[in-house]
Amino acid sequence: MEWFPAFIRLRGYRCLVVGGGAVALRKTRQLLAAGAAVTVVAPDPTAGFDDRVAGGAVEILRRRFEPGLVRGRRLVIAATDDPEVNREVAAAAERHGVLVNVVDAPELCGYIAPAIIDRDGVTVAIGSDGVAPLLARELRARIDAAIPRGVGRLAALIARWRATVRRCLPAAAARRRLWEEVVRGPVASAALSGDRDGAAQLMARALERACSGDFTSQGEVYLVGAGPGDPELLTLAALRLMNDCDVVMHDSLVAPEILAMVRRDAVQVDVGKRCGAHGLSQDEINRLMIDKARQGLRVLRLKGGDPLIFGRAGEEMEALARAGVAYRVVPGITAAAGCAAEARIPLTHRDHAHTCVLTTGYTSDGSPDWARLAAAGQTIVFYMSFGKLATTCAELIRHGLEAATPAVVVSRGTLSDSRLLTGTVGTLAAIIERKRPAAPAIVIIGEVVRIRERLDALAAEAARLTPAAVGSARERPPGWLEQPSIPVNP
Ligand code: SAH
Repeated sequence: MEWFPAFIRLRGYRCLVVGGGAVALRKTRQLLAAGAAVTVVAPDPTAGFDDRVAGGAVEILRRRFEPGLVRGRRLVIAATDDPEVNREVAAAAERHGVLVNVVDAPELCGYIAPAIIDRDGVTVAIGSDGVAPLLARELRARIDAAIPRGVGRLAALIARWRATVRRCLPAAAARRRLWEEVVRGPVASAALSGDRDGAAQLMARALERACSGDFTSQGEVYLVGAGPGDPELLTLAALRLMNDCDVVMHDSLVAPEILAMVRRDAVQVDVGKRCGAHGLSQDEINRLMIDKARQGLRVLRLKGGDPLIFGRAGEEMEALARAGVAYRVVPGITAAAGCAAEARIPLTHRDHAHTCVLTTGYTSDGSPDWARLAAAGQTIVFYMSFGKLATTCAELIRHGLEAATPAVVVSRGTLSDSRLLTGTVGTLAAIIERKRPAAPAIVIIGEVVRIRERLDALAAEAARLTPAAVGSARERPPGWLEQPSIPVNP
């Protein structure tokens, strides 16, 4: 190890930044964030120093650096674009025994600044001996994704309980076992998700158990949405729990690419139903989840799309609550949202649809309210309705929906073999009969479906425009300017 990592207390301590450019400004802000009293020395600092940083917190000396300025400083940063000045700063700091950092010159540094992840009291610092800052930054991005946003809350909970735990459990080994259980079990889940009261209750119970010598880990269940198929559409929370779980119970809808991302040692159980072959019944799934959690395992119940939309998570939560098993729900991108994005269909639109209905068409006790579904001015997304599509379309038309209303089937949306078939409510059933798209698929019905064509027409027109014509946008067909443009950097 070439550099010794450490966290330095700066609150109230005097620090010096030499230089007045953008880098110096950034460094000044970082020091201020740690509570330092910062002096900046530069003959002509950039405007930013006046507007945003100053406000009394920073002392700005508008002159050249002199060696005496480093005296009594906790840290010195040289961030000028003059290597000669930077060397002078480094030498002065060295002489006075003050830690110095020279930006982009590790050979002159007494300390180097790591890439950091800062989560309210939990800080991760990544160093590369000062020679590969870009690599450190890349690693930071990856680690960042793996650390829950709420980890500061967990740290705060641990801080609150520390003294009590020490008093109740004098043996260090016992304390360690308790904290291990706390940071990987239900207490952590509750704290991370912001449930302060729930976390406190679970913590009290864990401590009580620990005091009576019971350190068995408490299992829990994560009801997690895996999105419509494309692994890019997983949430960070889903990904983290996929890395944390001991058992994964998944539906057949969950794509193999996604299952391949689950922690390798986790036991995988396919509980899904497929045409022909039966999976487990809902009761059996509930029982298995509860059993596994009671064995102290972290069970990932992974579902296609969103767990709360046609995902039976309602029944599962009820069973878990009844059994007193801790659980957490993580939303996912539902098929309607994933498919609509892929097909470039806005599910709601100021001019065409103020309502969007997600439905399976049929309920457990029969047909839906067709008249309501056939009402104009809305978008309807049918889940699981493939076999019944002909009846569905016929009923909609019979209840007053225009046969010419545009409709689209998105088959295997967001997956690599996704397919889109467009038609109208009047023609869709025949189209599907002929083309036989693969499951899973959804059907989207409504005026909003037409917007795709409009976007294509606009794109074709834009492609024909010469650069000069871009300036005369006003002469384009009415409505052109009202179209939202594609964000370059969303
Ligand atoms: N909880 C899921 C829905 C489960 S019901 C969600 O929120 O998306 C299963 C139905 O979802 C399928 O029959 C199909 O209609 C739809 N579906 C799921 N994934 C899909 C995909 N990738 N493309 C199209 N439809 C999909």
